[in-house]
Amino acid sequence: MTAPTQSSITPSFFVACPVTGVKGKVVKMVTLKALLQPRALAKIEPDSTYRFCPDPSCDVVYFSEAQLYYTSDIKVSVFQKDESSDVPVCYCFGHSRADVLFSVANGSDLEASIVGHIKARRCGCEVNNPQGSCCLSNVKTLIGQRKI
Ligand SMILES: [Zn+2]
Repeated sequence: MTAPTQSSITPSFFVACPVTGVKGKVVKMVTLKALLQPRALAKIEPDSTYRFCPDPSCDVVYFSEAQLYYTSDIKVSVFQKDESSDVPVCYCFGHSRADVLFSVANGSDLEASIVGHIKARRCGCEVNNPQGSCCLSNVKTLIGQRKI
C-alpha cells in the first residue's frame, strides 16, 4: 500500500485514498459518528482527519493516516459504491436511485423538491449522507445521465 500524499510534509494529513490514490474530501467527525457501525465507531480516533473516497471501484469509504473504514463499517449503503436501484441518492429525504429515475421518466421534478428542502434549511446531510455533504450534485448527475 503506497500512498501518493503530502505525508513527508504533514504526516497526519492524507489527501488520497491509500487503496486507489483518488483524492477525498474531508468529512466532519459528526458524519462518521452518525454513520459508522458501533464496532467501527469504537475504534475511531477523534483527533484524526478522515476523508471520503468517492471511487466506485473502491470499498474504502473513509480513510485517515492510520485507518480505513469500508462499506461494511457504515450503517447505510453508500451511493457511490453501490449500484442498486434502492440505494439513496438523497439520504435526507429518502429518494433512491430508482425514485430519481422514475421522476425523470414521469416528468415530475424531484430535483426542485430537494432544492426546496435545501432552501428551507431542512437538510441534514452531515449526519445522513455518508459523503457528509449535500446530495444535489449526485442527483443532478443522475438526472443528466438519464436525459442523455
Ligand atoms: Zn478508495
